[in-house]
Amino acid sequence: MNQRSTFVFATLVFCISVSLTFAEGQPETSWQAGVSSVKITPEGPAWMAGYASRDKPSDGVELDLFAKSLVVRDGSGETLVIVTLDLISVPGPLRKHIEERLVQSNGLKPANLVMNCSHTHCGPEIRTTGSALSGLDPERREKAVAYVESLQTRILSSIDAAFIKLAPAKLSFQKARAGFAMNRRLPSDTGYRNSPNPEGRVDHDVPVLRVEDTEGEIKAIVFGYACHNTTLGLYQMNGDYAGYAQNYLEEAHPGTVAMFMMGCGGDQNPYPRRTLELAKQHGRTLATAVEAALETPKRAITGSLRVAFETADLKYADVPTRDQLLEQAQSANKFDKNYAERLLKELEDGTLITSYPAPVQVVRFGDAVLFVALPGETVVDYSLRIKRENQKQGGPDVWVAGYSNDVFAYIPSLRVLLEGGYEAGGAMKYMTTVVQPGAFTPDVEELLMSRINELVKATAEPLPSSDE
Ligand SMILES: [Zn+2]
Repeated sequence: MNQRSTFVFATLVFCISVSLTFAEGQPETSWQAGVSSVKITPEGPAWMAGYASRDKPSDGVELDLFAKSLVVRDGSGETLVIVTLDLISVPGPLRKHIEERLVQSNGLKPANLVMNCSHTHCGPEIRTTGSALSGLDPERREKAVAYVESLQTRILSSIDAAFIKLAPAKLSFQKARAGFAMNRRLPSDTGYRNSPNPEGRVDHDVPVLRVEDTEGEIKAIVFGYACHNTTLGLYQMNGDYAGYAQNYLEEAHPGTVAMFMMGCGGDQNPYPRRTLELAKQHGRTLATAVEAALETPKRAITGSLRVAFETADLKYADVPTRDQLLEQAQSANKFDKNYAERLLKELEDGTLITSYPAPVQVVRFGDAVLFVALPGETVVDYSLRIKRENQKQGGPDVWVAGYSNDVFAYIPSLRVLLEGGYEAGGAMKYMTTVVQPGAFTPDVEELLMSRINELVKATAEPLPSSDE
């Protein structure tokens, strides 16, 4: 089935079901939902993402990786496509490719697409830009390009399959908590170290979107958690704790697709870590929290979808000069040297950026859920603040995802930026998709928050009548 016929078919199914629903005199919201899962594990050995110290390709598969798509459509035809990936990142060019196809072939807007990654550190590298591919030997480069092409195809086929499966559905929200994430920024005499900090801020919420068919059978479980998928650094592909959690839920609920959505876990690690047993254990803990959520009273989602998508222009502080970079390029540290050389190339080509358009998205599921999707490796302060400012008695439940739509850098809060360390700007030299000149300016949190607040406000207003 080609794209156009997919869309026509999906539209046809939708029209029939709406008329049936109204004929039976059911409530005004007639949700449609379709879900699909496609394997994206690379064939054979592949270079892996996540740790700069990796020095050889993968040598096996411990647990397959998946791209999963959920399409939901409200009674007026507004559609949301949620794609979750067992991958390190959602590179901007990957999102752009998927978005353009959905805009052209399915008549959607960018705001109708959410893409989130689990940030597993045991998945393949995803190199989507010239700078990310430069310096690789020809064989590795060829493999990296081929993987991205196959990934794009598989994601689109997963979305198409979800559209084809659109059928009447019931949506509800539930939540629980899980405790294995801990803040990983420990203050020390020499600055903030990557080490468990029991006093540090955490967000232990486990939000759950439950999608059932009209018989009450669960078809999809979308669940979130704010914690790096860094239990492991194996050379065998796997989705870390999030991969195991999804696997356990799908085993326990045959016929259901479980989708993990990463929260603002930029400064959160799973503890303890470093063994396969612990990754499975954390996966089991998270799956158990989801099962607990499924036993709580369901908050039925009625009403309509409202979506908004914009960018916030985040600025970089202290863009280095050519002389500074030439000096740094002499460094004995191979990462500093490589970073300086990449920046020098951007400078010479006239492409060195001084700001970056970071995507921000807000989705309202009726009056029940206010969903905010943030870009980059957003630290936990963002989800805590957005929930503190928007979660009101009797108002919608607030769900904040990080690692969405374009994962190009760590995004610190003002607090983390001022404290310094890895997430504050120290990690910039390891970023591959976008070559960035250093830390963000101190207004980073306010730039992002003011854009979020605009979208929260815009989606709160009633939609104009479609027949005007
Ligand atoms: Zn990370």
